[in-house]
Amino acid sequence: MRNTKELISLLDSPSKEDKELIAKAYDFAQKAHSKQLRYSGEPYFVHSYETGKNLALLGMGATVVTAGLLHDVIEDADISEEEIKKEFGGEILFLIQGVTKLGKIRFQGLKRHAESLRKLFVASSQDIRVIIIKLADRIHNMKTLEYVPEEKQLRIATETLEIFAPLAYRLGMGILNRKLEDLSFPFVYPKEHERVQEIMKEKNNDDVELLKKVSQTIIKRLAKEGITNIKTSYRKKGSYSLYKKLERKNWDVNKIYDIFALRIIVPTVNDCYKALGIIHGFRRPMPGRIKDYIAFSKPNGYQSIHTTIFTRFGNVVEIQLRTAEMHEKAEYGIASHLSYKTKKVGSESNNIWIKRLLPNINKLNKNEDNKKDKNSADIPVWIKKLADSPNNVHSKEFVDELKKDFFEHRIFIFTPKGDVIDLPIDSSPIDFAYAIHSDIGNHMSGAKVHGKLVSLDTKLQNGDIVEIITKKEITPTSKWLNIVKTTDAKRHVKSSLKKQFDEDRNR
Ligand code: MN
Repeated sequence: MRNTKELISLLDSPSKEDKELIAKAYDFAQKAHSKQLRYSGEPYFVHSYETGKNLALLGMGATVVTAGLLHDVIEDADISEEEIKKEFGGEILFLIQGVTKLGKIRFQGLKRHAESLRKLFVASSQDIRVIIIKLADRIHNMKTLEYVPEEKQLRIATETLEIFAPLAYRLGMGILNRKLEDLSFPFVYPKEHERVQEIMKEKNNDDVELLKKVSQTIIKRLAKEGITNIKTSYRKKGSYSLYKKLERKNWDVNKIYDIFALRIIVPTVNDCYKALGIIHGFRRPMPGRIKDYIAFSKPNGYQSIHTTIFTRFGNVVEIQLRTAEMHEKAEYGIASHLSYKTKKVGSESNNIWIKRLLPNINKLNKNEDNKKDKNSADIPVWIKKLADSPNNVHSKEFVDELKKDFFEHRIFIFTPKGDVIDLPIDSSPIDFAYAIHSDIGNHMSGAKVHGKLVSLDTKLQNGDIVEIITKKEITPTSKWLNIVKTTDAKRHVKSSLKKQFDEDRNR
């Protein structure tokens, strides 16, 4: 049932103000979108509601859930920014504006530019909550993608697979990563998806039965050794994740042991290792399949111990051992930092996913003194702050830290086809040409920005669409050296000038 009550019930101990805020936003969004329908024929508000609900399920508080309910009212329902500010205040307006802005970025180009686009998303969002709202919005859009006109489906699904799902992964949000991948998969790779479904079907029932038996045996053994208060669950591998693994294993299903896995959640880190010892004591582990992601966590912060054992029925089963906190983080990642539900758990970790969020972020601490440092300049300040923030951050301070600043040092320029290239601020069309290909730079005769001819020393602006005009007989001149910003372009211009000089001399 879609109603205020359901949303509020998903919040963790909401205050009276929280409840009133949610109720107000619910009514406001419903009214604002009342004349609109989704492609599915449902009222538009269903989308607003489901976005808000996704956020509540991620453990977000009333402010973010409210922003989720209202995220499309400016863009799609012609509500003014002034009205939002008046009714809901500056913070919620800020979040909605952020989401609206992200909505304008489109993935149309090549996969090789996906990384630039991911950076662009992170850079433009200003606040991690904006990304989380955008991901919650995308989940519902993907769930209803079948109703969208066919010619749009592939672009939206590819964008989800190449941009949003990897972002969720890097932010440590396993649950969103898996959902986004599996919702996009059938649209982007229909045939492969079909094949994976067939394989899954064959595996399904037998494996779950087996896991139940194995799980009961293990629980008994662990209890005998004093480990109680255990939770177990079965996790089925996501279909896209299975597809990628099948590709790596030449589609030999027998080489994949973790289509189903048994998850065992124990109270402490010590218990994880102890349980591993107990399990290995009565079931032979498969060589080379023991992975200690507790001592050596994955780059995005994932922690667990994995092992694969032979059962007494002769099958193999993958077992994943972890604590409740590791589990929470593996599923919710950065969202669990902002979550009210897990605030009390305390955050002992070192925000690994934030440090790995962008390339070069690890170099950041070393380069603290040198503000002009290139690596450091690539990273938005709000992310630097995230990476530096002390471990026992209080939610409110933490959120305040995230709000400021913007990606000041890079601009994102598009080709007419929609490929995105990131360049240092004040770059020229010549830098852009060389960033595409050295041949294009070396024979560039002119440039158009948004379809209009411009001079070669024009300073490009964020979001410009630039078309480069080339002529075979054109070569770089020494003037270009004063214009270009990137070392790459400089190098190419110099080497071309030298070549011209050598040729003239030999003539
Ligand atoms: Mn939306």
